[in-house]
Amino acid sequence: WVESKFKLAVLPDDPAQTEFLCVIRDVTEHKRMEDELNQLNRRLAQLAATDGLTGLTNRRTFDDFLLRQFECCDEISVLLLDIDGFKGYNDTYGHQAGDRCLQAVAKVIGDAASNTSGLSARYGGEEFAVVLPNTPDEAALKVAEAIRLTVRALGIPNTASSRGYVTISVGVTARNRSTPDEATLVGEADAALYEAKRLGRNRSIVYSSLDMQYVESASIQHDGEFAPGERVR
Ligand code: GH3
Ligand code: MG
Ligand code: MG
Repeated sequence: WVESKFKLAVLPDDPAQTEFLCVIRDVTEHKRMEDELNQLNRRLAQLAATDGLTGLTNRRTFDDFLLRQFECCDEISVLLLDIDGFKGYNDTYGHQAGDRCLQAVAKVIGDAASNTSGLSARYGGEEFAVVLPNTPDEAALKVAEAIRLTVRALGIPNTASSRGYVTISVGVTARNRSTPDEATLVGEADAALYEAKRLGRNRSIVYSSLDMQYVESASIQHDGEFAPGERVR
């Protein structure tokens, strides 16, 4: 890499005669350092946006993404997902096994939102969140159930859980005309998740149907505790 600087030099006693002065400097090293710095900045931005353990987007990036989507998109769904009995898992199998379990569950959640305009994130601890733009709650529930059943199908033993395997509970909500802000969406998904826990875990609950829930049938049934089409309240 070279940098050149040209200067026009007009001779005072003969203005018709002009000369150029050119200075050429080798800037290879300077350019190499600049490229390295840009690369480091990109890596830094990526690290700042990513959860180190799972590789999913982190909470801060999730919050920014949800805010931006809320500003431009009338139809958005939010899923909050929480591993059931995870404290018991750590107590039984150890923290490192707990970390591997988190990574396995995160992969399922990440795969569900890949190839969509949605975003999946580690919300904190053993909680995850998914934003699905342009998705009504029935479709979001299908995504939630697909994730829940895939996690169950991993068949990760958890003797500390009544199910005997690692399962998740999911709260689902969608924006409607009266949703004031994006924080309300997260609050609704959290309320639905709380209800899913209260009703026995290993299920998905939609916020809009908290009064009379009819959670859609699961095509795969693993342990008979949540029958297809079961009325849960
Ligand atoms: P529930 O079914 O109600 O969700 O019960 P729970 O045991 O999953 O919930 P609780 O909030 O009591 O426990 C969450 C556990 O998640 C406790 C904490 O040690 C564990 N945890 C949070 N972050 C990590 C992590 O990065 N790695 C590991 N191994 N464990 C974590
Ligand atoms: Mg939990
Ligand atoms: Mg939790």
